[in-house]
Amino acid sequence: MQIEQMGATALSRELKKGTVSVAEAVAHYQKQIEEKDGELQAFLTLTGEDLQRQIDKVQEGIRNGRYTGPLAGVPVAVKDNICTKGLRTTCASKMLENFVPSYDATVVKRLQDAGMLVLGKTNMDEFAMGSTSETSSFQITKNPWNPACVPGGSSGGSAVAVAAGMAPLALGSDTGGSIRQPAAFCGVVGLLPTYGRVSRYGLVAYASSLDQIGPMGRTVADCKALYEAIAGFDEKDGTSVRRGIRNSEECEDSALGRAKEGLSADVLRENSVARLKGMRIGIPKEYMQSEMNPEVREAVKKVAVLLEQQGAIVEEMSLPLTEYAVATYYLVACAEASSNLSRFDGVKYGYRVDGEQGLHEMYKKSRTEGLGEETKRRILLGSFVLSEGYYDAYYLKALKVKRLIKEEYENAFKTCDCLLTPVAPGTASKLGTSLQNPLQMYLGDVDTVAVNLAGLPALSVPCGLDKQGLPIGVQFIGNAFCEETLFTVGEAYEALRGAFPMPGEQTAGNGKEGV
Ligand code: GLN
Repeated sequence: MQIEQMGATALSRELKKGTVSVAEAVAHYQKQIEEKDGELQAFLTLTGEDLQRQIDKVQEGIRNGRYTGPLAGVPVAVKDNICTKGLRTTCASKMLENFVPSYDATVVKRLQDAGMLVLGKTNMDEFAMGSTSETSSFQITKNPWNPACVPGGSSGGSAVAVAAGMAPLALGSDTGGSIRQPAAFCGVVGLLPTYGRVSRYGLVAYASSLDQIGPMGRTVADCKALYEAIAGFDEKDGTSVRRGIRNSEECEDSALGRAKEGLSADVLRENSVARLKGMRIGIPKEYMQSEMNPEVREAVKKVAVLLEQQGAIVEEMSLPLTEYAVATYYLVACAEASSNLSRFDGVKYGYRVDGEQGLHEMYKKSRTEGLGEETKRRILLGSFVLSEGYYDAYYLKALKVKRLIKEEYENAFKTCDCLLTPVAPGTASKLGTSLQNPLQMYLGDVDTVAVNLAGLPALSVPCGLDKQGLPIGVQFIGNAFCEETLFTVGEAYEALRGAFPMPGEQTAGNGKEGV
């Protein structure tokens, strides 16, 4: 079997057995990058000399038993808003074009402590603002399924790196869908963990009350392994939650309690499909609107049928506040962004114009030249809604609706173990079309943003291809701190669906269910 088809956990098993060396594995991915990234443009920076040091260290650590975990020896692509010591971290902005952090983000440290390597940094929408990766100051990342289409965003580079086999795993960040939506558009798996589960220390903030780092990989099992490596309390992040990374008891009871009849715990642990029996899955009807792409709706319904056939109890339900999610999200996100991005002024951080001028002129010119159009649009909107006289009418009201949305989900999880929805109302759009109408682009976030507002975990899993051969994603939304429920249902669905093809692979008549 070729390395790229192995998956990350399988690759690590081979590395630990010694059938493949760490250097060989890294060389394989470097070759893939060399062959494909000229066209796809997923990476902004590749790890240079330091990679050899990492290879030696990890190989030695595997040999002497220091690195025994499920991902030991695996290279990872990292989104370029996550700080990497000594390695350029630009947020895809001219503002930070030459920023080299003096420290590692906690997630980077944790993946290195688990014996993983940083392969390079991936392209994204500038400061993670966008849904297509086209707001990057530097390059346009292409979708490997069709290079005339966007990869989604903002973690587009990370999704493409995994989808095209240039990295077995990647880290992304998700403020309103930026892991799940590019994962869906590129046919890979992505997880948004519960707010507070994964440390944001070292993540360049976009909207702090919504931002979360999470894994992207080819399978649910790979994402789960990376999640387990990076999750958990970190005293360096004030919003980090002090609790174990396993499902909390409440989730165990509802998701697995009723399914256990007649089956031993061991069988259940091994068999995610058996665990579907009795699982209550809600389909919020507001996520299946008539305006959405009918191919996406059909693909999601097909997932529901498959799960139902295995004993899941699938029921339509309602989340009426979904209608307000996009407006609420953009008010909260832009307000927080305007505050977070004020540090990029040419003095504290970032690009500074040359020449003789006063302080204010220097700020103005530096920010005008250093930041892109979409970022500036959001800073302006955010500053407006935070300004005196408008704060109560917009920002405060948005915070109240955010609270109500959270409560609406909390109620839903009294009777559902998880929710099933599309990840986006359509599939990847053509390059160059989305930014012509930003409002339309914002509306495309309708299926992802409410989850961030409620601080919940959600998993995006590929569930089919549309007529043009572009991937479709299904989203499983869980109650807070119930990631394991999502892994269970995600793995069960994957088992029922069969392997998902890689871009360019023969898809017709190969017996792959659901594709
Ligand atoms: N598309 C959304 C936005 O533009 C989400 C971005 C994100 O999750 N970082 O804000």
